[in-house]
Amino acid sequence: MLNAAALKKEFPILDQSVNDEPLIYLDNAATTQKPKAVLESLTTYYQLNNANVHRGVHTLAERATHDYEAAREKVRAFINAKETAETLFTRGTTTSLNWIARSYGLANLQPGDEIVISYMEHHSNIVPWQEVAKQTGASLVYIELTHDGLLDMADAKQKITNKTKIVSIAHVSNVLGVTNPIKELAEMAHAVGAVMVADGAQAAPHMPVDVQALDVDFYAFSGHKLCGPTGIGVLYGKRALLEKMEPVEYGGEMIDFVYDQESTWTELPWKFEAGTPNIAGAIALGAAIDFITAIGMDEIHAYEEALTKYVMPKLQAIDGLKIYGPQKASDRGAVISFNLDSVHPHDLATAMDMQGVAVRAGHHCAQPLLRYLDVQSTARASFYFYNTFEEADQFVAAVIAAKEFFENGAI
Ligand code: PMP
Repeated sequence: MLNAAALKKEFPILDQSVNDEPLIYLDNAATTQKPKAVLESLTTYYQLNNANVHRGVHTLAERATHDYEAAREKVRAFINAKETAETLFTRGTTTSLNWIARSYGLANLQPGDEIVISYMEHHSNIVPWQEVAKQTGASLVYIELTHDGLLDMADAKQKITNKTKIVSIAHVSNVLGVTNPIKELAEMAHAVGAVMVADGAQAAPHMPVDVQALDVDFYAFSGHKLCGPTGIGVLYGKRALLEKMEPVEYGGEMIDFVYDQESTWTELPWKFEAGTPNIAGAIALGAAIDFITAIGMDEIHAYEEALTKYVMPKLQAIDGLKIYGPQKASDRGAVISFNLDSVHPHDLATAMDMQGVAVRAGHHCAQPLLRYLDVQSTARASFYFYNTFEEADQFVAAVIAAKEFFENGAI
């Protein structure tokens, strides 16, 4: 089992008090903290190597280009893509999904076609498809959930039909914590000639991901949710598809020849990366990937499973506390959305913050899901490998203390 307490020491931000209590950071589904190695990678880049990429022949430009492309190779290996040409740097999951919708979606959808998503999607895997549907005359179809909060695969079989052109599903839900059977969905999509898109924002940080084994056509994730900086993310796409797709943005870096009236595009992956990219962000994402893969993605996954098994029964034992999604810890990851029947989630999160515990409250960018669950908002605790079992105990104690405060006016 990994040593969370030792790993936590690598994260300077976690060594502080909030409201006079030691910080316990449980908002990792929103964003994760950054280890020294990632912070140093950013500083080193700006202090020693800062230059634009792919242009200069001078030493700094060569260093920056080398490190930027070396980071791409780290991303390729991280998700086991066949080649670096298939791994595009983006601003994050949202940008990646928008690129697929705008580039692949607009070119390949027509009236009568269907895009299949599910009721557990993040807004960034809903809204881009709504817009593409409006523009093309295609329609958006939702796969239902089971009573346990799992994707209803029987319904998926009904919804994925000859009309389906795109299936786009979260690999792991940011509200329910469930992992969806992406490989099986990809088989179903391919059987009807559709492409499979997976939103990996909550999966890539927490488990090994192999895009070839999953046989997805596109895979999106964000750097900041796996210890990397904000403003950098990844879009994986199969070469055959990316070759046929138009770039979403045009300008410098992505061209081959520019004539007065028209231009030609350079090769993959640069065809999609117009303008000066987030060089520091990409290099630091590489450092983050090095950091988490040195711990081991299997180890991270196993640790989070153990932590979830540990904390779920303690929460379930609290009178009036409801957990959304599967009740069995073995059916879910370390994202736990919950409510106390006597306390509004925002008040709960504020009371938790007074005790140094950072949890999120709100709709978690999943309004259709919350409507589906018939709830306005929830509190959410989301763990990462640097959260210890002691912190899990303190989190449960803070929930109980907040409940007592709101029910009896005493903490
Ligand atoms: N999909 C899921 C499942 C997410 O949890 C998130 C982030 N909360 C996103 C997409 C969007 O990621 P980003 O804001 O980094 O683009």
